[in-house]
Amino acid sequence: MYKELAPEDKLLIDAATKVIEKNFQEPRHTVGAAVLCGSGNIYAAVNVESCGYGPCAEPIAIGMAISNGERIFNKIVAISKPTKGYVVLSPCGNCRQLLVDYAPNLEVILPHNGQVLKASIKDILPDSYNNF
Ligand SMILES: [Zn+2]
Repeated sequence: MYKELAPEDKLLIDAATKVIEKNFQEPRHTVGAAVLCGSGNIYAAVNVESCGYGPCAEPIAIGMAISNGERIFNKIVAISKPTKGYVVLSPCGNCRQLLVDYAPNLEVILPHNGQVLKASIKDILPDSYNNF
């Protein structure tokens, strides 16, 4: 279920790292996400926190891609900027549902047992709700 990263996965991690590096503003923007589309284009976005709740970076990156005509999403990663360098984040439950709705064949780069690996969105959200 979990696979090792390929060398090209670093490009996606770099895109997510760069967008949060450039736009970090605690507490509003602390996570960056990057999505690789079927076209080969990468879209990167930050989260937008507000009082109590704000969209995560993943749905904003997906929305950016859709706004630019993309409909096929191959891979996604989210990066946070804590005090000690940048780290890969696991997508939250809300994002997992959104990702499986929009991209059932998506690969997600995420931390697992102390490593950064990748897995299918369906594998990390088994038996998901599906109304589409
Ligand atoms: Zn989320």
